[in-house]
Amino acid sequence: MSILRTANVRRLGESVFDVLVVGGGINGAVSAACLAARGARVALIDRGDFASFTSQQSSNLAWGGIKYLESFELGLVRKLCRSRNHLVRSYPSTVQEIRFYSVHERGFRRGLLLLVLGTWLYWLIGNFFTKAPRLLRRKTIAREEPIVDLRSSDGGVEYSDAYLHDNDGRFVWNFIRRALDYGCVAANYVESLGCGRDGDGQWVTRARDVVLGVEMTIRSRVLVNACGPFVDEMNAKIGQKTQHHHVFSKGVHLIVDRLTKNRRVLTFFADDGRLFFVIPMGPRTCIGTTDTRVESPLSQVTDEDRRFILHNINKRLRLPSPLGEADVIAERCGVRPLAVGDSKKDTTDWMQLSRKHVVEVDARARHVSIFGGKLTDCLNVGNEVASCVRALGVALAYPEARWYGEPPEEARLEFVHKATLMRLDEMTSPRSSEPLTTRLWRRYGAEALGLLEDIRADSRMGEVLIEGAEYLRCEIAQAARREMIVKLDDFLRRRSKIALVIRTGELRAAPGLHEACRLLFGDAAEERFAEYFGG
Ligand SMILES: Cc1cc2nc3c(=O)[nH]c(=O)nc-3n(C[C@H](O)[C@H](O)[C@H](O)COP(=O)(O)OP(=O)(O)OC[C@H]3O[C@@H](n4cnc5c(N)ncnc54)[C@H](O)[C@@H]3O)c2cc1C
Repeated sequence: MSILRTANVRRLGESVFDVLVVGGGINGAVSAACLAARGARVALIDRGDFASFTSQQSSNLAWGGIKYLESFELGLVRKLCRSRNHLVRSYPSTVQEIRFYSVHERGFRRGLLLLVLGTWLYWLIGNFFTKAPRLLRRKTIAREEPIVDLRSSDGGVEYSDAYLHDNDGRFVWNFIRRALDYGCVAANYVESLGCGRDGDGQWVTRARDVVLGVEMTIRSRVLVNACGPFVDEMNAKIGQKTQHHHVFSKGVHLIVDRLTKNRRVLTFFADDGRLFFVIPMGPRTCIGTTDTRVESPLSQVTDEDRRFILHNINKRLRLPSPLGEADVIAERCGVRPLAVGDSKKDTTDWMQLSRKHVVEVDARARHVSIFGGKLTDCLNVGNEVASCVRALGVALAYPEARWYGEPPEEARLEFVHKATLMRLDEMTSPRSSEPLTTRLWRRYGAEALGLLEDIRADSRMGEVLIEGAEYLRCEIAQAARREMIVKLDDFLRRRSKIALVIRTGELRAAPGLHEACRLLFGDAAEERFAEYFGG
């Protein structure tokens, strides 16, 4: 069991917090990081692992919302573009510009010329932050991306947005880790069973350690409901009324072997008229997504979803043989929680329903609900929640504290210098997709210095432990100490993306995985292994 988690679960019941954040997806994680850095005493709980619900199912894109140009939501596009630019500036090695190669089909609802003009407008609205758009003639596409089936296309356009180099789960984890570094008491696998207010107006949350089945009480002055798709359910449970609520759109992605060697996102309009992506994911390709209105947050991939995605991809790419279900390495499925107001018109045009977030405050109850949102806009969510909490009377002694972003360039250069002196990149496995120096800095920032120390002390620490997964022995040892890993799925699916890029059968047989389990779980290693692989 993670020592860090055990200590934090105990501390949850020991004091009165300024703020309890319920939910450790992106919205909860940024709220906790911002509040803790600015001086609030913060606790955060999630009934599963951090990011284990919606936030691990995204397309991994930080995008300015080009599609909202069609509904003339220029204000929203401007805001999202600014958020994207700010993320890219703050996380130069994690959130990076990527080219979108958008193919236009003859007879589509908008002509190619309009599409091209749209991308130039997008570029302008985004302050020319990225590379300029480029018209793609059919012959250019045929030369640069021969995989694209051009039979019904009259060309296309290339423009830029950004993507998360690692996975969304890791991105969220880094905010949780940051919150912990600023003194937040965060614990995964702790569920809120319900909350009420005592005679002094303090929030009293009844919670349960899901792992041990033990109940506890957490006291706080302010309660932040960051339960994502479960915000309404949680509010209903405690009688908290809000002007907004959620409707849900299910989105499915399938992961298959790499389809094209180029590091760019191929974009098509699927049969239902929606944008459809072919996104690089390490050594694989992620394809999707769907957009289906559903009533429940608990969604599953259906045969119809699989057929829709595979049909659309096979129709638009020239593959040696069509992709079938046997080619799917992993699936991702989640619901987008979309914020709507009381007004009926908010839900009528499903396709155009925008992805704005809303932070709703009940000042009398000192209660905050976060509706909707995107990974792209997460820094704004953190800042907004902190402002609301401050307005509720919680003193933030360090209102200007910077709570996000990679360490400064001098710190990176110092790391690179030390790594060069010990010839770190020469230890890179021939199967790795990038030099170790680049990868370790991106994933761990300043913590990567500790990894260098470990490798210097014992060169075995620099060996790849799980073949094909690029993970070094020292990374797993560090994860065991710092990353609050309770189940094998936490490590394979969220702290890393191993489970998304390696087939389950291959992973199960990987010799290093047993040793990784021993490092992560000690005596419980075989139990955790069996829990993940089912016996
Ligand atoms: C298919 C898809 C693609 C997307 N693509 C993108 C993209 O490319 N770019 C982008 O910016 N955005 C994207 N999004 C949107 C983005 O992923 C979501 O808006 C965001 O992850 C929502 O985060 P959240 O924190 O609100 O919810 P969640 O991540 O669901 O977090 C809520 C947490 O609350 C916890 N919880 C619930 N009830 C309780 C309780 N009683 N006690 C304790 N904990 C509780 C849950 O376990 C969960 O972890 C996409 C979404 C989907 C579904």
